[in-house]
Amino acid sequence: MRVILLGAPGAGKGTVAKLLTDYDGSVQISTGDILRGAVKAGTELGKKAQGYMERGELVPDSLIMEIMEARLQEPDCKKGFILDGFPRTVPQADALKKLLQKLKLKLDLVVNLDVPKEVVLDRLTTRRTCSNADCQEIYNIKSKPPTADGKCKKCGSKVVQRADETEEAITQRLLTYNEKTAPLIDYYKKEGSLKTISSISSQEIVSGITAAIKGK
Ligand code: ADP
Repeated sequence: MRVILLGAPGAGKGTVAKLLTDYDGSVQISTGDILRGAVKAGTELGKKAQGYMERGELVPDSLIMEIMEARLQEPDCKKGFILDGFPRTVPQADALKKLLQKLKLKLDLVVNLDVPKEVVLDRLTTRRTCSNADCQEIYNIKSKPPTADGKCKKCGSKVVQRADETEEAITQRLLTYNEKTAPLIDYYKKEGSLKTISSISSQEIVSGITAAIKGK
């Protein structure tokens, strides 16, 4: 499948994307994970992105498009891809449209994960992430804790709170989402490819997405 997941920070894009990859072998492409990996590895890209990310602002579109243009042409994308956290602005959506035309690829669906604001806020403050850049498994201190000594159950690395998960950065990320990313809901509605799913259960969201794709 070729799917875009839209939704506020904390709406569950990462969790849903990981579940969808098990479904048909499509790859999850998370620009947030790619950027955090680059910051941790101290690459040029990481150095450019770090400040924006820690403040909860968006990384410039040109950097993101450079990453995505290369990423979508890697061989593992042949089976399909789930875009998690991209596009995040109208210029990114326009650039993606052109890129897909160039690569002769069609999207199956754009999904809007519609989750109440209180749920999103609660999830962001209780979320923890595996510090291993190749794993980045998501935990939650209430609903899905790591091991008793704070390690990742998948790879054994330390599980940490992200640098942008302070109250200040979370507030900024939600503002940025409303201003820059929420307009994409109308953008894709106009294109006729949008499906909104209002559920807080990842399993229910996954079933909704797979049913919508099968029904096409
Ligand atoms: P969340 O969706 O929970 O905010 P992500 O992991 O998707 O978190 O993104 C973390 C940060 O990485 C964002 O706040 C932003 O600074 C940067 N980022 C990720 N994807 C993009 C993108 N497509 N465009 C611009 N910045 C991005």
